[in-house]
Amino acid sequence: MAEWAEWAEPGAYEVAGGVFRVPLSMPDDGLHAVNVYAVETGGGLALIDGGWRTPTGLDELSSALTGVGHDVASIHDIYVTHIHRDHYTLAVELRRRFGARVHLGRDEAAGLHQLLEIASNVPVTSLRQLRRSGEDELAAVVHAMTEREGFDADGWEKPDSWLDPGEYAVGARTLEAVATPGHTKGHLVYHDLDARILFSGDHLLPTITPSIGFELGDWGLPLADYLSSLESMLARPDALLLPAHGAPGPSAQARATELLEHHDVRLAAAMRVLDELGEVTAGRVARTLTWTRRSRCFDELDSFNKMIATCETIAHLDVLVDRGQAQVQHDPDGSLFSLV
Ligand SMILES: [Zn+2]
Repeated sequence: MAEWAEWAEPGAYEVAGGVFRVPLSMPDDGLHAVNVYAVETGGGLALIDGGWRTPTGLDELSSALTGVGHDVASIHDIYVTHIHRDHYTLAVELRRRFGARVHLGRDEAAGLHQLLEIASNVPVTSLRQLRRSGEDELAAVVHAMTEREGFDADGWEKPDSWLDPGEYAVGARTLEAVATPGHTKGHLVYHDLDARILFSGDHLLPTITPSIGFELGDWGLPLADYLSSLESMLARPDALLLPAHGAPGPSAQARATELLEHHDVRLAAAMRVLDELGEVTAGRVARTLTWTRRSRCFDELDSFNKMIATCETIAHLDVLVDRGQAQVQHDPDGSLFSLV
């Protein structure tokens, strides 16, 4: 049962001069809503993130903007933080209807290419990690589930421009696009240094941790990327946190620090499991750890979240191996991790 979330109430909320937070509902989803941010530019509006192309998404956006004296047709540019459908697919629709230009981080190109290639919602990369975690059965369940869902090819087109990190003029403001790989490879946050605001996408979320390892493409070390992207936030001036899910927060740096601590705790917990159980698969480790803010057992999670939990676990174990604190033995029935 989804609990009520005040921040997800429909509307357009001014969070800084000329910047409005617009939550768009995400039906049947524990995240409640995705925030897009509308920025007045003098010549209309720019959006940070486009939202999800649901049956109601465009109407929700339109009536929220009307409520603050703006017109959805005046959106001329959309700066998307990453390729996930709740951030990207409505941007494509806004381009079709109103000619808005869509911008996305260059390192998302491979992921989009793969998605168009397989033309399916099946998260093939994550399923490969499930098998490497010794969770073939779960992989089969998620495969069948996501195949049944069908694929809405219509929401997926290339952006007008692939953004590199750097400064972009948005009306009178300058937004700095900062590479923050981890949640996805090409994730960007947009930092307005003068206004001291940070559009953080899913990189920094106020009450939850973004999933790691749920994207298409080469696996690499997504958690190591994420941790260095968190550290890079600490090297920048602090800012008001404007996240894609959840209420704004006073300090992007404070949240980055909390998330770094969270992953330290999780890495230590994974090491304790290896210490207790000896040589084990990532799936076994995931089943031993607890999940979500409420410390739930693995078996209480639905199949989709079991996949997310397992991918996160193997991402943590890969980091321990990379740091020389654990070792891994490859096995067709699931890689076996143990302490060094
Ligand atoms: Zn996302």
